[in-house]
Amino acid sequence: MDITKIIDPLNDAQRQAVSAPSRSMLVLAGAGSGKTRVLVHRIAWQIQVEGLSPHSVLAVTFTNKAAREMRGRIEDLLNMSAHSMWIGTFHGLAHRLLRRHAQQAKLPETFQVMDSADQLRLIKRLLATLNLDEKKWPPKQIQWYINAQKDEGIRARHILETGDLYQRQMLIIYRAYEELCERSGLVDFAELLLRAHELLRDNEDVLEFYQQRFRQVHVDEFQDTNTIQYAWLRLLTQGKDNLFVVGDDDQSIYGWRGAKIENIYNFQKHHPNHQVIKLEQNYRSTGHILKAANQVIANNDGRMGKELWTDTGDGDLISLYAAFNEQDEAYFVVERIRAWVNEGGARSDVAILYRSNAQSRQFEERLMATGTPYRVYGGLRFFDRAEIKNALAYLRLTSNRHDDASFERVINTPARGIGPKTLNDLRMIARNRSISLWAAAEEVLGQGRLSTRAANALSGFMQLIRQMAEQVEGLELFEKVKQVVEKSGLIALYQNEKADRGEEKVENLEELVNAARLFDFDADNEENLGELDMFLAHAALEAGELQADDFEDCVQLMTLHSAKGLEFKLVFLVGMEEGLFPSLQSIEDAGRLEEERRLCYVGMTRAMKQLYLTYAESRRLYGRDSYPRPSRFLREIPPEFIQEVRMRANVSRPVTAVKPKAPGIMTEGQYKLGQRVRHEKFGEGVVLQMEGEGAHERVQINFKTAGMKWLMLAYARLETL
Ligand code: ATP
Ligand code: MG
Repeated sequence: MDITKIIDPLNDAQRQAVSAPSRSMLVLAGAGSGKTRVLVHRIAWQIQVEGLSPHSVLAVTFTNKAAREMRGRIEDLLNMSAHSMWIGTFHGLAHRLLRRHAQQAKLPETFQVMDSADQLRLIKRLLATLNLDEKKWPPKQIQWYINAQKDEGIRARHILETGDLYQRQMLIIYRAYEELCERSGLVDFAELLLRAHELLRDNEDVLEFYQQRFRQVHVDEFQDTNTIQYAWLRLLTQGKDNLFVVGDDDQSIYGWRGAKIENIYNFQKHHPNHQVIKLEQNYRSTGHILKAANQVIANNDGRMGKELWTDTGDGDLISLYAAFNEQDEAYFVVERIRAWVNEGGARSDVAILYRSNAQSRQFEERLMATGTPYRVYGGLRFFDRAEIKNALAYLRLTSNRHDDASFERVINTPARGIGPKTLNDLRMIARNRSISLWAAAEEVLGQGRLSTRAANALSGFMQLIRQMAEQVEGLELFEKVKQVVEKSGLIALYQNEKADRGEEKVENLEELVNAARLFDFDADNEENLGELDMFLAHAALEAGELQADDFEDCVQLMTLHSAKGLEFKLVFLVGMEEGLFPSLQSIEDAGRLEEERRLCYVGMTRAMKQLYLTYAESRRLYGRDSYPRPSRFLREIPPEFIQEVRMRANVSRPVTAVKPKAPGIMTEGQYKLGQRVRHEKFGEGVVLQMEGEGAHERVQINFKTAGMKWLMLAYARLETL
């Protein structure tokens, strides 16, 4: 038996954790110390040395991507297929349980998963039927309320009325929401977890089956589990002492979504026989980066306390760049990336990390303009785009007519002349009689209560769905998708849509057909799902992880939250400004501010070799201009670890000799950074950047009154001052 592959690439503490006899264990250690590596090697060890069957392994990771990587690494270490292991996210695994035991979970076999945007839409619709004003009852707030209850395991029926009017109304909404989901066979993300917990809790046979099956349970990023997730783990491992968790209290960043650092204490309380292992050597980052991150996180109170060291040497200093504005920031970052690539660096080793999704656009624009391939995780994910969701809604309806969210989504897309009044009638009937919109529509049509026009429009839509369902029977998945995309009229709709990215939408729909073609269907999946249903569930669950060109070498863009657990040679942490990072909402609240600081720690510790921190002196975001102060986190880094990147000269080619063609007029090749110029229309300004050559040469100028502009030098007729 060859165990060197499993044991050699580990240090002593890691080895101890990997090879310890089965018992409850907590590996508590800082970023980059090999927690995930330990978890992977421990699974391999147990299979190889202790004869554990892969079938008996349950491992929970934070993203589907991490799950795929984990499976791959275990297979590598063992030289065998790990197909029968259950590795996934809490949501993915809960979904799997619910599919297999839909009946016992009191769900229809055809239940559909709603992502967060679907859920929000459903809530909006609900408010309309309840005659509640969205301004007084903001849908987002309601969504937050409902999910927060579910994350704590609380259903509407558990909530006692306090007489508080606000609370009473929330309760009414929550109750109606539950009914609506029930009726439509819809399950939101929080419901996946709660339902799976109830399934195990209330069905002894199911629970026993899985308790026996999963002889070892492993959890990565344990610090970010919420109440219901932890309760779920406890059920599965009850009385078995077989829970192995790894985590870092300093990287707990989902408190705002119900994650409980306390679970680390609870774990210790609930498992009196547990063993704690600490890892202190960091293998990821060079010395300066690591020391700086340690200093930043040291400003938090109430840490469990641990220090990290590295023997890789200090490495480069951290670079700090003060951008003039957000465009300049993007320009700078992209230029640096290009330099990196020119020197032979891989694009996939580069990450741009930001606090909020809205920040990505500037970088995307620059990357596109320079033809640099990139990929955005989360936010703009493929399956989130409106056109894709429309197509998926049609597909869902062919599979389940009672999916109200989908019905509502596409009944009038493309427009069919089904008016708001007809729709409202349907909603009222559906609500009063506790039936789906589809059933309500059938009823209304049967009773002949609609005007001829409305009736025709409505029955036309229903006929279309029925026909599509018939036509795609027996076709291959991608053919199904293709048919539905065309027959639904979506392609035609977007082809005619000149202004609003119509062409791109058509391309995206084609890409959806492509995704269906490449979809890796596991025909003997344990849940016995058909290919289409599997594909639809996959679309709802894969958060931004299945984008086109998975293998292309491209720059990675993501929020700090989604960077957890990952590492990159070159990292840009952008938008380091008060009000953005730390976020505005957190500044007044000590607890939230500490969570922001942990997020900063997570961000900095993603970097292996080079870390750039940037901020802008003025920023336009969400349509507003602001002049933010640099983030406090920058001040928390000792200055000896930082080198300031001076001025915009760094982002441009060296200044060429000034050889004016005509006195006073700037032409190609003749400019200076910081040069003051005058434009006929825009007035006075200062040259900030330039790019391109010859006839394509462009300059960016900050005009006193007209603001920032890019101008073609050949046409701008700029006068130097
Ligand atoms: P995070 O807290 O960010 O999730 P982590 O503690 O899970 O980090 P890993 O991702 O497992 O850390 O490891 C960080 C890096 O260090 C990886 O590239 C890993 O391969 C490497 N590494 C871990 N342990 C060792 C070791 N003993 N020898 C060499 N490299 C190691
Ligand atoms: Mg990790």
